[in-house]
Amino acid sequence: MAEFAAGFADRFTPGCAAGRYAPSPSGDLHLGNLRTALLAWAFARSTGRRFLIRIEDLDRVRPGAEQRQLDDLAAIGVDWDGPVVRQSERLPIYQSAIDGLVAAGLTYECYCTRREIQQAATAPHGPMSAYPGTCRGLDAVARARLRDAGRPAALRLRASTAEFDVDDDLYGHYRGPVDDVVLRRADGVPAYNLTVVVDDAAQGVDQVVRGDDLLPSTPRQAYLATLLGLPVPRYIHVPLVLDAQGRRLAKRDGAVTLTDRRALGDTPEDVIAVLAASLGYRAASSSELLAGFDARQLPHEPWILDVKRLLQRSRCP
Ligand code: GLU
Repeated sequence: MAEFAAGFADRFTPGCAAGRYAPSPSGDLHLGNLRTALLAWAFARSTGRRFLIRIEDLDRVRPGAEQRQLDDLAAIGVDWDGPVVRQSERLPIYQSAIDGLVAAGLTYECYCTRREIQQAATAPHGPMSAYPGTCRGLDAVARARLRDAGRPAALRLRASTAEFDVDDDLYGHYRGPVDDVVLRRADGVPAYNLTVVVDDAAQGVDQVVRGDDLLPSTPRQAYLATLLGLPVPRYIHVPLVLDAQGRRLAKRDGAVTLTDRRALGDTPEDVIAVLAASLGYRAASSSELLAGFDARQLPHEPWILDVKRLLQRSRCP
């Protein structure tokens, strides 16, 4: 494995340090997404890094969403370096990472359906967030039987640890589960946990700022990076935005996208001011925010956004 890992990693020319924002083009960005993007940008720019945009379009894609996301980022003053990268255009690099893991004997085929995994997860021995390893020990005969029965196979990592440690600049030390993570989905598409690791390394991303809903996946990703001989980036997981009911901000909250806000008469500057205020700053542009940006002052708690109150504010003369 060490030989493969070195060979795979050597194919990446180390670029300048970079941060990134990596949206999935499944819909419009809401205020929480825009806030995370603004933070990722401010972290990168305030530390002299390049800032990259990567469109993670291997999952749900809504037509037109990518362009609207890019337009919204530009409207709030988030600029980026180089061309926008799309995962759908990078399949060979993911395949070569998968090939190396297969050749190193670090993978196995998994025929479990989603329902079977869910059932195992709610088995009497208690909740389990990790894949229980049902297909880990299948022999060639059992695999052939499942294949002949028309079951599509995902490819999983044969992990040799159950936990891995990461350091997060905001959260601190975090130890979390590592399971036999899916590398290639049953539909043949490379899986998120693999692509994110390969892309961050290939793009020279050494600073990952994203929502803290992804913190639990981070040990898996850092472990996978290590297996592939790739550097583990610095992580900064920022608290999510919650609605007045304490739920993750979502479309149902209404008037949460830039288009919604504009329709209510807000300018992009008004929106930046709201986002900046949630971070403890007075700023009406991304450059004003950047000028005073101090990562040590960031709130560690979720931002509770009362959209109804924001609406009332918009209606004031
Ligand atoms: N594409 C993921 C999302 O939109 C983010 C992945 C990441 O930042 O690592 O939720």
